[in-house]
Amino acid sequence: MVSATAALLLLASPVHAQVPGIPSGETGATKGIVAVSHPAAAQVGKDILQQGGNAIDAAAGIQLALNVVEPQMSGIGGGGFMMIYLQKQKKITVIDSREMAPQSADPRMFLDAEGKPIPFDERHTNGKAVGVPGTLLGLDTALKKYGTMKLSQVIDPAIGLAEQGVPVNWINARHIADSQDKLLKHKTAGEVFVPGGKPLAEGELLIQPDLAKTFKLIKEKGTDVLYKGEIGEALVKEVNRTGGAMTMEDLKKYKVVEREPVKGTFRGYEIVSMSPPSSGGLTLIQILKLMEGFDNKKDGPLSAAYLHRLIEANHLAYADRAAYMADEDFYPVPKTGLLHEEYIKERRQLIQPDRVNREVKAGDPWPYEGKKAVKALSQVDVTPVKQTTHFSVMDKWGNLVSYTTTIEDVFGSGIMVPGYGFMLNNELTDFDAVPGGVNEAEPGKRPRSSMTPTIVLKDGKPFMAVGSPGGSTIIASVSQTILNVLEHDMPIREAILSPRIFSSSYPSVTWEAGIDQDVVLQLMAMGHGFRPAPENIGNVQAVIYDFETGRMYGGADNTREGTVLGVDAVAFTSAEPPAPAKEEKAAFAVKVNGHVYPYTAEQLVLWNGEPYVQAEKLLLGLGGDPDAFQSERISLNGRSYLSVKKAGEGLGYTVEWDAKEAVVSLQKP
Ligand code: GLU
Repeated sequence: MVSATAALLLLASPVHAQVPGIPSGETGATKGIVAVSHPAAAQVGKDILQQGGNAIDAAAGIQLALNVVEPQMSGIGGGGFMMIYLQKQKKITVIDSREMAPQSADPRMFLDAEGKPIPFDERHTNGKAVGVPGTLLGLDTALKKYGTMKLSQVIDPAIGLAEQGVPVNWINARHIADSQDKLLKHKTAGEVFVPGGKPLAEGELLIQPDLAKTFKLIKEKGTDVLYKGEIGEALVKEVNRTGGAMTMEDLKKYKVVEREPVKGTFRGYEIVSMSPPSSGGLTLIQILKLMEGFDNKKDGPLSAAYLHRLIEANHLAYADRAAYMADEDFYPVPKTGLLHEEYIKERRQLIQPDRVNREVKAGDPWPYEGKKAVKALSQVDVTPVKQTTHFSVMDKWGNLVSYTTTIEDVFGSGIMVPGYGFMLNNELTDFDAVPGGVNEAEPGKRPRSSMTPTIVLKDGKPFMAVGSPGGSTIIASVSQTILNVLEHDMPIREAILSPRIFSSSYPSVTWEAGIDQDVVLQLMAMGHGFRPAPENIGNVQAVIYDFETGRMYGGADNTREGTVLGVDAVAFTSAEPPAPAKEEKAAFAVKVNGHVYPYTAEQLVLWNGEPYVQAEKLLLGLGGDPDAFQSERISLNGRSYLSVKKAGEGLGYTVEWDAKEAVVSLQKP
């Protein structure tokens, strides 16, 4: 018999009878698993696990292979955060190999002569944007502390891939084509990826002899050849030739730091994520804690009510991110205050059920920290969204790696070290271009990151390693994947592929295809500004461990060739998503308070020279009663349309029709 208290406890505990996120009907692996954004790098990880290597060995091998097969995303010219769960010690730690600013860095380094930020396109392809890279030293440190193999062993598959070549896949071909100008700007990278002025196309072989030579040098001589030797000298020379000021001293002084992750809880699960210099973990946990106060399951993951709250929670958390989160070796970050239950409660009250909050500002977590404020100044985050890479690994002993790694932009700064074949990062553009805030550029400092490698545990047992690239959108991708699994009971593959949204501040919302138009219109009626067309957000790779059965599963995103390989079972590569259908040209555009509404061509008609919109879609978007204006409706092609002017004015909007520009604009304060 269950006692009354025990029955209550049972009711209060999470609903999952088993470990969440497990795909039904799949046989999991038992001897290790990897989830990686490229099949060739996934194969390297699987092989290392199969040969008896642990998760750290496999992760190092995967990173080096990614440098070859996904050279635009990460590599020894960049940095990252490798989160490791050590099964024996039951401990989670992070190897921080984030880039550091050279001694020449200065808070005004990204301003022009008039004190204005240099445009991003120019600033990120200059040698000044290059941070002292940490990845190679990070890998070596992780292997020496927690691996079972040597750098000289795990580098072998990468040497083979660079020498023999890899066929360019659909996504790499797209990235090369899109980055042509940048690759040609400093010549060397152009010679590799755009030979003879023609970008490498899908199916062509990418052979990288210089990179193979570099990896052989590293195999033979160790990391010193980069941090103190000939590779470093070539690197410094190229950074200085392209406008930067880096020295061998900067390279010698580079420090890998082992860090404690930040921790929080969500519905009884433990969320362990990246601490400063990343803003990822704190912002992620804030979003989850803010969302914990609502009955999200009832509304569902793609409902207007849920997405509204999610957007509002994101605005609150991202406002704090901008004000308080940076390299805490330079400024104290109020980590306790930001995650304090009472502070979160105070912030949660700013979420209104059916109306956008236009005035979101950073809160004041310092009183909850028990300390006086040190420095807080928000700088608007205006850098475009980047894409690098995340992968997750689990070995047969139960060790886990959740590793987000980057050269910042696609192809980083566009600068390749001549003769050595690897790309250099532009990580220093993650500093605020405008000085004055906690994240201004300073010598020896690490720029604020958004990378959010995360491990989720239940009762001390880890069951999920997850992360994503995507610059500041990373936190949104990771939080939504976790919410999809823990709150909406989705298996991991579905949780990753389910459409996501991103909005760091009012009013702009980026959204993925698959969110119903009616939902978007309802959200726009609440005051959210959705971008006119859907876009892809992030690239999540995760592994799930069923600690009750000892089986391992994985999920990979389809915005690249995401691949999950288990040593003894599970093998798949995500299929390329279908290209969006070509939209017919619409007769006009509808703009409400400055936001273009995502109506399809057939929902818009010109009638006697006046704009009409399909009635229920118009009323949904304007927040009106869907049955209103019956007598004003006209019927065309079996649909009922309403005059924008009549309905808009009837609902209190001022309406202006610009026939020449074909835009009808509605305004309501
Ligand atoms: N530089 C970005 C950051 O640290 C990472 C870019 C990405 O992973 O997409 O937040």
